[in-house]
Amino acid sequence: MIYPWQTCAWETVQRAINANHLHHALLLSGEEGCGNSAFAHSLAQSLLCLSPADDGSACGQCRSCQVFAARAHPDFMPVALQEDKQSILIEQIRELNYFLGLSRSYSPRRVAVIAPAERMNVNAANSLLKSLEEPAPDTHILLLTGHPAALLPTIRSRCQEIRLPVPSHNAAAEWLRGQELRHSPENLLEASGGRPLTALELDATETLAERQQWLKHLLQLAQGQGNIAEISSHWEKHDRVRLLNWQLSWIISIVKGNITQAPASLPAEVESLRRLITQKKAFKIHERLIELKKFSTHPLNARSYIESMLVLWSL
Ligand SMILES: [Zn+2]
Repeated sequence: MIYPWQTCAWETVQRAINANHLHHALLLSGEEGCGNSAFAHSLAQSLLCLSPADDGSACGQCRSCQVFAARAHPDFMPVALQEDKQSILIEQIRELNYFLGLSRSYSPRRVAVIAPAERMNVNAANSLLKSLEEPAPDTHILLLTGHPAALLPTIRSRCQEIRLPVPSHNAAAEWLRGQELRHSPENLLEASGGRPLTALELDATETLAERQQWLKHLLQLAQGQGNIAEISSHWEKHDRVRLLNWQLSWIISIVKGNITQAPASLPAEVESLRRLITQKKAFKIHERLIELKKFSTHPLNARSYIESMLVLWSL
């Protein structure tokens, strides 16, 4: 599946395939939550497909596509974190090197996807170097990462990097409007930092409703309504770091909105809050939240911690 905001990257790769000069090692980098894993797997399926469409997408019908969908393709190898492991291990990369050295079966190429590539430990990464330096013919390694700077420079320099984009707000919102959602696309995008797949996941949880409730309570206080003691008793069992991070994301949006005077993409409640808070007060709240963050793991009374956050927003 290729998402609308990935079309340009897809066309770039397909042009290289058609011209027969696709680099044997592609570093697909970009923010998590934007469908990059789907892009890597679509590309893998396309490289393996026996009769791809004109735009390069896999046909979905051929023997290769059917076996790929059944996760049993003899010319495809995914390398991922094993259960309970923090790193991709050298044994996995040795297995990959062996796989790349085999002759292909019925697909035109052999393809591997390593994700998340930055999780290869040093030994694993060093073991991969040989396959990157002396690639077997008709083999492609796709390294997927949200943190390209965390890869060894020797790995990065042997790959061609393709940056996968974060969609614009409008593109992400338009795509979300085409999904069956419980919440508004604007609220979901605001809560997910503009990352549409994260937004979609969030839609299935109760997190957004809680977040909205917390925002409503802050808004009440900023309007001179609501009672700090009652509100803090409502929230005392909640994760205080989460409550604090939500406030931080709003206050940053408010500060930015005040500067640009173009708060078009702010959800209604955040915009209402922005109108009630001067820039000076916004900076003060931000400063205090950062201070409070230092004490977030302190075994301080939960209720007084929450009260000290709430008091920042009251009139
Ligand atoms: Zn096919």
